[in-house]
Amino acid sequence: RSRAYAPDTIAALATPPGRGGVGIIRVSGPATAAIAGAVLGELPRPRHAEYRPFYDNADQAIDTGLALWFPAPHSFTGEDVLELQGHGGPVVMDMLLARVIALGARLARPGEFSERAYLNDKLDLAQAEAVADLIEAGSEQAARSAQRSLQGVFSEWIHSVVEQLTELRIYVEAAIDFPEEEIDFLSDRRVTEQLAWLQRELNEVIKQAHQGQLLREGMRIVLAGRPNTGKSSLLNALAGRESAIVTHIAGTTRDVLREEISIDGLPLHIIDTAGLREGGDEVERLGMERTWQAIEQADRVLLLIDDRQGFGEPEQQILQQLPAHLPVTRVYNKIDLTGQAARLDEDEQSVRLYLSATGQLGIDLLRDHLKACVGYTPQGEGMFMARRRHVDALQRADELIANGTAQLSEHGAGELLAEDLRQAQQVLGEITGEVSSDDLLGKIFSSFCIGK
Ligand code: GDP
Ligand code: ZN
Repeated sequence: RSRAYAPDTIAALATPPGRGGVGIIRVSGPATAAIAGAVLGELPRPRHAEYRPFYDNADQAIDTGLALWFPAPHSFTGEDVLELQGHGGPVVMDMLLARVIALGARLARPGEFSERAYLNDKLDLAQAEAVADLIEAGSEQAARSAQRSLQGVFSEWIHSVVEQLTELRIYVEAAIDFPEEEIDFLSDRRVTEQLAWLQRELNEVIKQAHQGQLLREGMRIVLAGRPNTGKSSLLNALAGRESAIVTHIAGTTRDVLREEISIDGLPLHIIDTAGLREGGDEVERLGMERTWQAIEQADRVLLLIDDRQGFGEPEQQILQQLPAHLPVTRVYNKIDLTGQAARLDEDEQSVRLYLSATGQLGIDLLRDHLKACVGYTPQGEGMFMARRRHVDALQRADELIANGTAQLSEHGAGELLAEDLRQAQQVLGEITGEVSSDDLLGKIFSSFCIGK
């Protein structure tokens, strides 16, 4: 890896804090063998679970449990690792952790075990991120996709693209270095075909990565509309469960009202604007401020309209309060009372959806509409988890290659093409972490949980 680190020994509680059947303390680094010797009396057999007392400094047992010893490099971090599985009580775990710290370990920062696994080449960066994504997965589909990324499906794809890219760059550079050979890049099928292949391949990865990103980050929706137009009812219909009932009593909304639901694996973050009122005390104003921030970052507005009343002045006013850049879907609700057919109408002026929240009419249309808005197609197999930074990098690489191709066809400029290919290679390397900065690494790993 690009970054050297001076390994000290880190320790953390790897299970969630609190009470549980089992609690695990994880230790990694050069002092681990000595710590294991002191706590266990002697080192366990490598990679075998051994049932042992865990001793304090007076040779009294703090707990008895399973000890697992993974000598370097055959461990998660690539360093010597010890896992102590004791009884999951906060006091026992604290005592055990304090003992390990007294023996020379220090408390691990969030994500530090994964960071070491990355620095020791056990995982690449995209895989390390997949570890966190798997832990945070909010749906079965997200978990399966994270698992595929963790297994390297995404990384291998990136590697194969980088390999082709490198080969092409070397070929072009060699041709530039031997001008007597007089290679005409434009008529060189090898160059043009490779460039076309690279672009096709990148577009395919971008498509899948975008799906993966949506699966992870979801879509943010603002639910707006006059009182009693059916916002809460629609939320319940979308969520498909009665328990999602949100009651708004003026003055009781203390924070951003959010609902998290998912449709076919696509997470929806719903921000209810019912909490936005005039006045209120300081706490309420803070809540409203947060609501406005959330609205600013939303992907779409669902404007609820009572179909009996139609779109009028109040609706116009609500839209004027919302950021102009947000696309709006007008949802005409209560068609069971007006006899309208459930349908989606779309023209240059507006997108209109007719449904009934309580009558369960047109809810599927809304689900499909929302998925279509963000280009989400749950493909299941073959999908991997991705983040915004991955998609950004892929798009930059795609632009560089398109640019290089244009340079070639317009000016026959092999040098410029080679430079674009070199940069594209660099940009793709950021995804897997072949190329990385301390800043980026810090940002990624600090969002992990402690003990991971
Ligand atoms: P909100 O204030 O916008 O959240 O509106 P609610 O979801 O609380 O609904 C207001 C009232 O309209 C409730 O009595 C709902 O049962 C009713 N309602 C909501 N959707 C429909 C619908 O599609 N058809 C009918 N007939 N009533 C509805
Ligand atoms: Zn409501």
